[in-house]
Amino acid sequence: MPLRRDEALVLARYPFRERDLVVVLLGRASGQLRAVARRARSLRSSLATATEPLAHVRVSFFERAGSELATLDEAVMVRSAFDLAARPAAWAAGQVVAELALVYCPPGQRAEPAFRLVERCVSCLLGGHDPAAVAWYAELWFLRLGGVFPEIDRCGACGAELAAGARLFDPAEKRFTCAAHRPAAAVRLSAAGVDWVRAASRRPLERVGHAPPEDVSGWLVALREGFTERPIRSWSYLTRLLGEGAAAARDESTAGATPAPPCDRTR
Ligand SMILES: [Zn+2]
Repeated sequence: MPLRRDEALVLARYPFRERDLVVVLLGRASGQLRAVARRARSLRSSLATATEPLAHVRVSFFERAGSELATLDEAVMVRSAFDLAARPAAWAAGQVVAELALVYCPPGQRAEPAFRLVERCVSCLLGGHDPAAVAWYAELWFLRLGGVFPEIDRCGACGAELAAGARLFDPAEKRFTCAAHRPAAAVRLSAAGVDWVRAASRRPLERVGHAPPEDVSGWLVALREGFTERPIRSWSYLTRLLGEGAAAARDESTAGATPAPPCDRTR
């Protein structure tokens, strides 16, 4: 069994047998990799400390031919994501990004662009970037890396350049169309939505400061589900947290805008 080394991000981990953990990694060179961390469920395990979820680590591991599980030999932390634990929405967005990587990156296939995308997302979350913007940016970019993101500025049927503004998408053919090639059941993306898609496709995440409008988020989910046929379960937790945050902000602004009724001094 040769010893291999790689740089990796911890996507998930779970208990295995009585004393071990299975660590699911996204290796820069190895792609998705599952490795057993032996005796890592003991409190003093250095393997457990280094392989916290979303951490960036340097690992060495043994692979056995025919086995799905590698054996983790050593893990040294390069960057922790522990600070996200204090910010539930940022943590949940990190989980969405990790789950997307699990779905999109098959085991054993080099995944350097996906590795860089996940690392960029986690760094931005640690830097205080908007959690929803990060999660939707990851949705868009995993589709792009998967090679299934449609050309947005040309009609997929005739190649005509599409004018600025809203767009019509043909969900059956998975392409944008001009008015002449509009399908019976077109999905419409608003002009604001198209602007967001363009910005997220061209700019670094640091310069994409907010989530897309709902027409785009629904469209991204439909594209992903058509391609991967898998729901991303972490989204429900993130959506709930974002909803609670928005409701709290609304309550605050309503409280400010509508003063409490004055006392009736005539009585
Ligand atoms: Zn056309």
